[in-house]
Amino acid sequence: MTRTYRPEVADVISRARFTEVLTAQIGGESSALGRGWIDVDDPATGVAVASFETSSAEVVDLAVRSANEAFHQWREVPPAERGRLLAGVGAAIRRDAELLAQLESIDSGKPVSQARTDIAGSARYFEYYAGLADKIHGETLPQAPGTFAFTRREPLGVVAHITPWNAPLTQLARGVAPCLAAGNAVVVKPSEMTPLTSVYLARLMAEAGLPAGLCNVVLGAADPTGIALTEHELVRHVTFTGSVAAGRAVGAVAARRIIGVNLELGGKSPTIICADADLEAAAVAGAQAVVRNSGQSCFATTRLIVDRTVRSRFVELLAARMAGLSVGHGLDDPDVGPLISDRQLERVMSYIDSAREDGARLVIGGNQPAAGGRFINPTLVEDVTNDMRIAREEIFGPVQCVLEFDSLEEAIAIANDTDYGLSAGVFTRDVSTAHQVAERLEAGQVQVNRYIGAGVEVPFGGYKNSGLGREKGTEAVHHYTQVKSVIMDIA
Ligand code: NAD
Repeated sequence: MTRTYRPEVADVISRARFTEVLTAQIGGESSALGRGWIDVDDPATGVAVASFETSSAEVVDLAVRSANEAFHQWREVPPAERGRLLAGVGAAIRRDAELLAQLESIDSGKPVSQARTDIAGSARYFEYYAGLADKIHGETLPQAPGTFAFTRREPLGVVAHITPWNAPLTQLARGVAPCLAAGNAVVVKPSEMTPLTSVYLARLMAEAGLPAGLCNVVLGAADPTGIALTEHELVRHVTFTGSVAAGRAVGAVAARRIIGVNLELGGKSPTIICADADLEAAAVAGAQAVVRNSGQSCFATTRLIVDRTVRSRFVELLAARMAGLSVGHGLDDPDVGPLISDRQLERVMSYIDSAREDGARLVIGGNQPAAGGRFINPTLVEDVTNDMRIAREEIFGPVQCVLEFDSLEEAIAIANDTDYGLSAGVFTRDVSTAHQVAERLEAGQVQVNRYIGAGVEVPFGGYKNSGLGREKGTEAVHHYTQVKSVIMDIA
């Protein structure tokens, strides 16, 4: 691991006022009751850039109780006013977008232009749900004469939001914005590897005039912080984004406590590339999967299932694209940044080794750049079959796999032969093939002749082990409200 100190990193940390040890943000203030501290490193260099105090169970208790008080205040705020305040959060994110993008790049390693897209997306969540805050309503229900029935959509109370390290601020905004719009209060626990933009956002929310305590942030790993949060008696719902294993653990707590849960988990997303497809466009999509967050992206398409008759031409196009990708420090804005940790680097390398052992063929990459560090050169593997470990498990690195098919039936069978179902794609110029495949793919989202993130308006979530519930769009609001029926005798 190179341990190069970069002065511009120190400059960003200082402009964000992160030179002190960070602490939980409760009621708009720092809470100094943590226990021990954890360093946050710059993934590209391994050098610690900030540190934070672990929020103990006592700190989590304070954060949840403070959020619960804010909830009782917030639910009385007229919905249009809630929307106005949330729009102010979106504006504050846009005002500080460049600093937030640099922080996100340093913290997660992603190239700064990708971080800029993430930050703009985070502002967009607050803007979209600001507009929805006064459009969350119940229904009137037909009854016999003399009886009147209607439903109300009421908030839940305090909702915990637990986020991963690959897109810290967008994952937070995706869950928190609809939750606040619906009248709830939140306690956020970002990944212990990437807390910086979450802490910064808590400050922006206080500045934007949201009630103190409405969005508190606790810091730490699953144990003790995450577990204390999901177990807290006043937490009425958990929105969890992360791995399947951790999602199962969180889901088990929610089942025992009889509270709601959203699980946004991993993926192994297939894309079917038909013989009539625009192969250049499909190659762009295949390369994008390793570019975005260095392949550390839940919805990345990582199984390209290609018609045998065009496979070699497609592999040629994709390899040419991937071979031209630059690798480097996020702030230098390369195509591909570092992996988040040494552990993740080892994990990805072990998948590449397993592919070789299983008989797949390495087309490009498979190694680290000469300078070492947490970087892996963009890697393309062909002759992959769907029973290989590399085709079955989430790799979360800059590795792309090509499989092949002879008939559309076979392609769909391969695509659906997975434990996951987050996202899927198809490239074809035939509109009926596109419809048939979209209908039969077992995934929460299907992209046709494209494979990039969709807008905030479009629901997102997994089939099978990829999760439970839907985020984004108007769908998200259903998770953050409970329906009350009122029946009146008016005769
Ligand atoms: P992870 O499961 O290790 O951790 C995610 C978060 O959960 C972290 O904040 C962690 O501290 C916390 N956590 C872990 N166990 C917990 C427990 N028992 N109780 C409470 N909190 C707990 O995941 P990760 O390595 O940070 O993220 C990578 C994973 O996230 C990948 O599998 C990826 O596919 C998935 N992901 C999914 C989406 C989506 O929208 N579906 C988006 C991004 C990432």
